[in-house]
Amino acid sequence: MTDHVDSIYDFVLDVFYEEEQMRMTLYQEGSVCGEKILTGDYRNKKVWKNPVKRAVYQLFSKALGKELPWGTLTGIRPTKIVFDGFAKGKTQEQIIRDFQKDYLASEEKAALCTKVVKTEQELLSRFPYEEGYSLYVGIPFCPSTCLYCSFASYPIRAYQEHVKAYLDALEKEILFVKEHYKGQKPQTLYIGGGTPTSLEEKDLERLLEIIDQCFSIKDLMEVTVEAGRPDSLSWEKLKILSQYGVTRISINPQTMNDATLRRIGRNHTADDVRETYDLARKAGFQNINMDTICGLPEEGMKELEQTYRAVREMGPDSLTVHSLAVKRSSRLNQVKEHFHHYGATPEMVAYAGKCALQMGLEPYYLYRQKNIPGNLENVGFAKKSKECLYNILIMEELHDIIAVGAGTSSKIMDQSRHSISRVENLKDVLQYTARVDEMIHRKEVKMNGK
Ligand code: SF4
Repeated sequence: MTDHVDSIYDFVLDVFYEEEQMRMTLYQEGSVCGEKILTGDYRNKKVWKNPVKRAVYQLFSKALGKELPWGTLTGIRPTKIVFDGFAKGKTQEQIIRDFQKDYLASEEKAALCTKVVKTEQELLSRFPYEEGYSLYVGIPFCPSTCLYCSFASYPIRAYQEHVKAYLDALEKEILFVKEHYKGQKPQTLYIGGGTPTSLEEKDLERLLEIIDQCFSIKDLMEVTVEAGRPDSLSWEKLKILSQYGVTRISINPQTMNDATLRRIGRNHTADDVRETYDLARKAGFQNINMDTICGLPEEGMKELEQTYRAVREMGPDSLTVHSLAVKRSSRLNQVKEHFHHYGATPEMVAYAGKCALQMGLEPYYLYRQKNIPGNLENVGFAKKSKECLYNILIMEELHDIIAVGAGTSSKIMDQSRHSISRVENLKDVLQYTARVDEMIHRKEVKMNGK
């Protein structure tokens, strides 16, 4: 044990010695005395944050005999580092090397991240996103609440009587957006939640009509509706989405294992996913996304392979491979100890990524979340020209994302485009409905303060 501690101590000394060399190189100006360097520089977070994180990480890594795929990186958007590197004129190889050196990330993750950014940059170069904005419309209702959910989501049946007032409030917010942008249409529109298709047909139609009156949906470059839950869809609803000009929908199995679907509180089966998928193709949808989650409770490689065999048979145009996150506000967080195992392993994520590539899908956006066991990531894969631009724009924070509805968060860029203000809407659906004028006012203040 003592030997072990001694070797850790020596190791940390080595790490700090290396950092000291770097610090001296950075700050050596001949006349500056050591004392001054110490008191001045150790407070400089920019200089010291990464070296200290590396030292602590290496200390624990050595003690526990374990390495993390993303090394010291804990942020949601590792791709921003790559964007930065390219902006400074670095090559892809240099960025990969720096990722490994500065953050102790694996070569595999560094390569994935740079590959994603290359694709993003190529897609972004095709339209003037800096001149535009995107609109997000949140519908916080679902057929039931999934075990791992932390979004604004209310069971539609219990909240049916509040839907009309909710749509009235949404209409107010959408009209405000129209007036603020003086008729300029959003470049991308994303209707998410919740599950928008859990609305009754007449309500879904009313929602789309409100948006259509303001921005004529068919003129927009990209329109996504999350139809995530097969138990929320019908032929009539699919026809409504199609008639209004929705270009992309999500049908999310998460898993194709019926026992797991029951365990996570989704009131549908794997067969329901297949049937809904076929129905959506019949209704004419040519861009269908599917979400899957690696590491759902009690799932191992066997269940994951079953899911991917089924997904491959269906053949979606894009696929998001999530690693299970245990959010603090989710039910999963309260009952997780009852499961034998949960959380993705690197093997699961690697397997899912390999399957996506075999299906002809390429990675095009990537983000990480807090509380993902194993420090893994979420990656969006798509066929060429079936990527979702909104996903890139929101992840990379490249233009204003105006979000309306309960529990949504707008991101408004300042004039220099260097900083972003967030404006949050209330999460409670009844509170949001009652206080929508306040939500509009909050947005107005930030948007006019540009
Ligand atoms: S479908 Fe999505 S939003 Fe609805 S309960 Fe499940 S995870 Fe939450």
